[in-house]
Amino acid sequence: MHTADVVIIGGGIVGSSIAYHLTEAGCRNVLVLEREAHQGKGSTGKSMGGVRAQFTTPVNIQMSLYSIPFYAAFDERLGHPAGYKSQGYLFVATKPSHLEYLQTNQRRQKSLGLKDVRMVTKAEIVEMVPQLRSDDILGGSFCASDGFVDPYSAMTGFIKRAVDDGATIWKSAEVKGVVKKSRCVRGVATTRDEVHAPVVVNAAGPWAAEVASMARVELPVKPLRRMLIPTEPFDEVSHEIPMVIDMTNGFHFRPESRGFLLAWNDPEETPGYKFDFDPEFIEKVLIRAADRVPCFENLAVNPKRAWAGLYEMSPDHHGIIGEFEELPGFYAANGFSGHGVMHAPATGKIVADLITSGKTGVVEDVTVLSPTRFKAGKLLHETALL
Ligand SMILES: Cc1cc2nc3c(=O)[nH]c(=O)nc-3n(C[C@H](O)[C@H](O)[C@H](O)COP(=O)(O)OP(=O)(O)OC[C@H]3O[C@@H](n4cnc5c(N)ncnc54)[C@H](O)[C@@H]3O)c2cc1C
Repeated sequence: MHTADVVIIGGGIVGSSIAYHLTEAGCRNVLVLEREAHQGKGSTGKSMGGVRAQFTTPVNIQMSLYSIPFYAAFDERLGHPAGYKSQGYLFVATKPSHLEYLQTNQRRQKSLGLKDVRMVTKAEIVEMVPQLRSDDILGGSFCASDGFVDPYSAMTGFIKRAVDDGATIWKSAEVKGVVKKSRCVRGVATTRDEVHAPVVVNAAGPWAAEVASMARVELPVKPLRRMLIPTEPFDEVSHEIPMVIDMTNGFHFRPESRGFLLAWNDPEETPGYKFDFDPEFIEKVLIRAADRVPCFENLAVNPKRAWAGLYEMSPDHHGIIGEFEELPGFYAANGFSGHGVMHAPATGKIVADLITSGKTGVVEDVTVLSPTRFKAGKLLHETALL
């Protein structure tokens, strides 16, 4: 029987960030359990790596206001690169309602302290990305401190520093059960050994609901397939451009290596553990790509390099963070709905704060993210989803 002060189930970017923030706070007897032989095989290794503060709800904006400066200072702070590139996110509006929506969001973002966000004119957009078809563009929104990170590298930086500072990671150790006593959590049973711990954190990404069911608590997180298409090298568009989001249909793309990474949220996708890449997706995306960027007609794509991963969807598309009222000592850090990389620093800090002191200053009101909100009918509403 092993003992730990805190057990974290899942060694992706969220579990790794929690381990880092706990050791930073002086809680060093931390054990991360990862069932795979290598970290990053869950959603973290499949992510597009986008980071942005251009959200709708105060809590998501505040999570980004902690996380993005954290990523900007990551290399210096952790001695390991996060690969942060502040190339910005450019939302391109083609309807008056898009512009109104962006303006409303910006008022809220600015009131919460986001400085780099601004409305941009059609002329500015064309200057930033001259290859865009612009006949229907009305304007847009740009935030210079938004951008991209390398999720795998950031995850590695978090766990390395956590381990240097006293944490332990067991790989190839699958959690099979959550041990309870007197209605409190007491540890976990794993394929390697049993671990006694007064605090257990669920950071199991798209598998979070299964882990919660081991503790017999309800966690409404569903896996949803998301596919990405990297192109072959392409130099007709600059590699310094921001993430560009066509608000007409949600198609978005960003530079990646010598080519581009193309994404689109297929509304016909249904929940499930689907890991296969559907080759028909390529046509759906390339049509939208060439429609907005005519020279993308010349893009070459190798289907073998495209991939699928899982978003971990919560009913209101916000993270679920906090201790379960019905099971003291059991914490959720789940349900990020496609924002888990960009919000991993804030999540790590919040969970560490809650465990060590019961409160946090990262967001104004952390209770809005609590796992109890679903039963209480207090759902949030985020519409800036990609
Ligand atoms: C295609 C795609 C694009 C994305 N783009 C972005 C983006 O641009 N920006 C962004 O912020 N986010 C993005 N995301 C979402 C982001 O990748 C996730 O929100 C994030 O990686 C979640 O991290 P995690 O550590 O919670 O989960 P994971 O990385 O999935 O880690 C969970 C870990 O738990 C382990 N595990 C599960 N069950 C057990 C068990 N019983 N015992 C032990 N270990 C277990 C798994 O093996 C896994 O390693 C994207 C996701 C996908 C799929």
